[in-house]
Amino acid sequence: MSDHRVHVWPWLRVVGSLLVKDWLAITIGRRIYAWRPLSDGELAHELAHVEQWKRHGIAFPFVYLADSLRARRAGKRWYHDNRFEHEAREFAARGSRRV
Ligand SMILES: [Zn+2]
Repeated sequence: MSDHRVHVWPWLRVVGSLLVKDWLAITIGRRIYAWRPLSDGELAHELAHVEQWKRHGIAFPFVYLADSLRARRAGKRWYHDNRFEHEAREFAARGSRRV
C-alpha cells in the first residue's frame, strides 16, 4: 500500500466544490488529490479507495457511480450511503483504532 502518491493542491478546493460541496480529497488510481494535507484518518480513507481502484481497475468509476445510483433509488444519500464510501470509512476507523 506504499505505492500511492498524495498531491496537495489548494486551488482544487474551489474547482471541486463546484461539484461536491465540502469535499476534501479525490482518489484516482494510486493518486490522491487533496486541497489541504490529510490527517492519518483521512489518508486511511483515501487509501481504501486506492485499494478499490486496484480491485476494479478502470471500471471503478462506473461501479462507484452505479452504487451511488442504487443508493439514490433506495432513498439514501448517493455519497454517504455508497458502499465504497462505507467500506472506506470502516477501513479508516479500523486504522485509527490500531494507532
Ligand atoms: Zn471516500
